[in-house]
Amino acid sequence: MKTQKMRKFLLHTAREMNACGLNQGTAGNISVWVENGFLITPSALPYVECTEEDMVLVKADGTFEGIRKPSSEWRLHRDLYLNHPQSRAVLHAHSPWCTTLACLERDIPAFHYMVAMAGGDHIPCTAYRPFGSQELSDSIVKTMGPLRACLMGHHGMICHTVSPDALLPLAIEVESLARIYVQMLQINPEPPLLSPEDMREVLERFATYKP
Ligand code: 13P
Ligand code: ZN
Repeated sequence: MKTQKMRKFLLHTAREMNACGLNQGTAGNISVWVENGFLITPSALPYVECTEEDMVLVKADGTFEGIRKPSSEWRLHRDLYLNHPQSRAVLHAHSPWCTTLACLERDIPAFHYMVAMAGGDHIPCTAYRPFGSQELSDSIVKTMGPLRACLMGHHGMICHTVSPDALLPLAIEVESLARIYVQMLQINPEPPLLSPEDMREVLERFATYKP
């Protein structure tokens, strides 16, 4: 997709992310891959006040091009693209249910087969590191491994996708799983879980689950 089309997509997705309750205020950030780097939402600017031209281009050499400062989490976005060369979009949100679990330093285990949407048999939670730091990025890249989503200790959630159109749906799914898991914990603090074999079978089925 051309850069101008991507600016539009980025702004639309950022506004949608807040409108659907996945994020609030100037928290969170989104990026999309373009030909010469990635476009990312600007730092500390409310999405409703942003224009397409406020989206910042972070180039492959780490320099920026734009009228605004890039999101403070640009290192995290850069490192996820470097470690997942097929990924084309990254979303970070302070979504309420994921953040509830992240503040409890809890992973999301295989309580439901849809956990496999994140690419494995659980969605891990990273240790706390300061926002915007290289340590935060290093810790997330390491904990996430080959997965597509994780919780960020005492902070929020992050996910990445090959198709930009799949980005918001994946974030919404992870938030929904977090909500259901928190609800379950209120009824049964040690809920039954699917086995590693069950989850392996789901992952195989997902490989061909296409329209
Ligand atoms: P930015 O406004 O710099 O993107 O920061 C928001 C955030 O969520 C930091 O983790
Ligand atoms: Zn954040």
